[in-house]
Amino acid sequence: MSNQTMNIYEKAIKQSKFYIKKNILKYNSLRNYDFGANQRDNVSCLSSFFCHRVLLEYNIINEILKIHSYSKVEKYIQEIFWRVYWKGWLEIRPEVWDNFLLDLNEIKYNKLAYEDAINARTNISCFNDWVLEIKRENYLHNHTRMWFASIWIFTLNLPWQLGAKFFLKYLKDGDAASNTLSWKWVAGLQTKGKHYLANSQNIAKYTNNRYTETKLNQTAVAKNEIFIPSIRKIPEYQNNKLYSNIIILDTDLFIHDRLDLLNKYNNVYIVFLKNDDRNIKLSNNVINFKKELLKDIIYYLPNSKLIDSTNFKNAVSNLEGIDIIYPNIGENLDFISKKCVELKLKTNFLYRELDLFSWQFCEKGFFKFKQKIPNILKHIKTLDL
Ligand SMILES: Cc1cc2nc3c(=O)[nH]c(=O)nc-3n(C[C@H](O)[C@H](O)[C@H](O)COP(=O)(O)OP(=O)(O)OC[C@H]3O[C@@H](n4cnc5c(N)ncnc54)[C@H](O)[C@@H]3O)c2cc1C
Repeated sequence: MSNQTMNIYEKAIKQSKFYIKKNILKYNSLRNYDFGANQRDNVSCLSSFFCHRVLLEYNIINEILKIHSYSKVEKYIQEIFWRVYWKGWLEIRPEVWDNFLLDLNEIKYNKLAYEDAINARTNISCFNDWVLEIKRENYLHNHTRMWFASIWIFTLNLPWQLGAKFFLKYLKDGDAASNTLSWKWVAGLQTKGKHYLANSQNIAKYTNNRYTETKLNQTAVAKNEIFIPSIRKIPEYQNNKLYSNIIILDTDLFIHDRLDLLNKYNNVYIVFLKNDDRNIKLSNNVINFKKELLKDIIYYLPNSKLIDSTNFKNAVSNLEGIDIIYPNIGENLDFISKKCVELKLKTNFLYRELDLFSWQFCEKGFFKFKQKIPNILKHIKTLDL
């Protein structure tokens, strides 16, 4: 099948298979290099698929371990588990997301410096290039995201919240958990007092000397905040159909292990969240990418309908209740929860067993979580993915 006739899911599978077969073994030694937008085979570039769950992270881990021994791909699998960990950490502390959105309306900042930063007009050439790159490619390498965030916070003295918002606007993989918590981590708010200070030699080395002698603030101290989020209990696992209609949002589009269940519904509403219904407005490229992903689902489910968030009320107004594939903390959950309360519509969230199993280990730091990775891997193997 040619690339042109494939749908997005098929393309994502093809890309992941190619990466696992050809390039994954380079990851341990080369993953930290950003060789530039035209040379990305040292990393997988799969995050926009993971983030919308076009690819299910547990499923891909399974596929990797069918071909390679754990020790050879440990780093890559660990990185995928960072995503799982951040998600679980935020699920336990949803106030961190709420607070981030509240901060965006309240923070004071230097407007001129901010405009210069987001328009690539600073006197830091690598930073300006990355601003243009994220707008053009809707992707940045992980190491570059760390340098970018560090320069934003500690050299340009801008609030981390605005940087996180800027990333969400332009990244195709923009994700409430990975993004918010990574920015907080760089600022020194996630691991309290431990911040990430980008330095010129490190940038030169890992960009293959594309950027040398970058002048950065090397003495900044970690940010602090007086905010201790409360901890909530992870819900019990349940995946039972309760109502005759169901909603899918763009944060969990992996339907392939749920086709039997989804086919039992009268209607599968695939809800596209328009910018009007988002706190953080997305760029056209990201909006269009999401639309394409959602259209893909219709191909697999004859009982599905794509509706945008402004038509949501009309589509569901006569219903007593609705099942919802749990969309995780973030804009989708905020929208759907608010709307269902307004419409007095009862909701029944369907979770993934592997998410809930993994999230029980996310209360503390990543080091503690990492010790549980073998348990999660065992659990992945017991499920038919
Ligand atoms: C400030 C900052 C903001 C970030 N914002 C996002 C975001 O909005 N969405 C997002 O998906 N990731 C985010 N990340 C994490 C990471 O940078 C991206 O997941 C990664 O760069 C995606 O590229 P890749 O698929 O080529 O990754 P690879 O290096 O090939 O890694 C494989 C997979 O592992 C996961 N992964 C890798 N590194 C991380 C990490 N540090 N944290 C969590 N998961 C990771 C991703 O799912 C990725 O696709 C952010 C990191 C930083 C420092």
